[in-house]
Amino acid sequence: MNAIDINQVTYRYDSGVEALSDITLSIPFGAKVALLGPNGAGKSTLLHHLNGLKIPSKGSITIFGTKVTKKNIHSIRQQVGLVFQDPDDQIFSGTVWDDVAFGPRNLHMSENELEEICTAALGNVGMLEYKDKAPYHLSYGQKKRVAIAGILAMRPDIVILDEPMAFLDPSGQDEIAGLLQGLHYMGKTILLSTHDVNFAASWADMVVLLKEGKLLTVGDNQLLADEK
Ligand code: ADP
Ligand code: ADP
Repeated sequence: MNAIDINQVTYRYDSGVEALSDITLSIPFGAKVALLGPNGAGKSTLLHHLNGLKIPSKGSITIFGTKVTKKNIHSIRQQVGLVFQDPDDQIFSGTVWDDVAFGPRNLHMSENELEEICTAALGNVGMLEYKDKAPYHLSYGQKKRVAIAGILAMRPDIVILDEPMAFLDPSGQDEIAGLLQGLHYMGKTILLSTHDVNFAASWADMVVLLKEGKLLTVGDNQLLADEK
């Protein structure tokens, strides 16, 4: 069974813009997928469909065989974690710890379990020593890592990241690249959007090119060999 099946998905914004046109794509369990395309191609719109943040105008999305609908968004979001492009869209709590604990608390985990999960998630992103800090004191790259920890604390099988490398300096980008490799070793299926062709070519095992809401090509990272 695939982790994700996108079946003939079309999405139209209320403004009338057709941001996705008849997209069909399957993502196997454990894949590392890079989604590339110019600004406005529909990358964010597509990623927002994968955890039910958007529901297709036409067509369907299935996660491990279960169709994403408004009714089952709650259970879908435990399987599919979405990291927004801007961490400020995702971080709301007064401390790093409370932010990462927000999701598990909503699931009514015991305090012991919560302690274990949040410690592990913050450790995974190298932010455990910042647990008592207020998020607004952190750098952009650190906030990004806290946002990822908040997603990991939900223990999703699938992790979606919208432009995880954007606005980071080279060392921040290296940290995220290392973290993504770690997620892969943990067995997660990972799908991210990026403008960084070199990173996509070195990291991804599946490359998807999107333009004007249409799927141009799907292939392995050799697809990018000519563009480097
Ligand atoms: P990308 O992530 O590849 O830059 P987006 O998914 O953000 O592309 O946008 C795809 C298209 O949908 C663009 O034409 C964009 O202007 C349009 N769009 C995005 N968000 C909205 C919105 N909230 N309302 C109307 N149109 C939107
Ligand atoms: P991204 O790079 O994630 O696609 P954008 O800079 O394209 O982000 O969009 C930023 C915000 O503006 C998003 O919330 C998006 O939905 C919204 N947006 C983008 N294009 C339009 C549009 N044509 N009309 C209304 N909202 C838009």
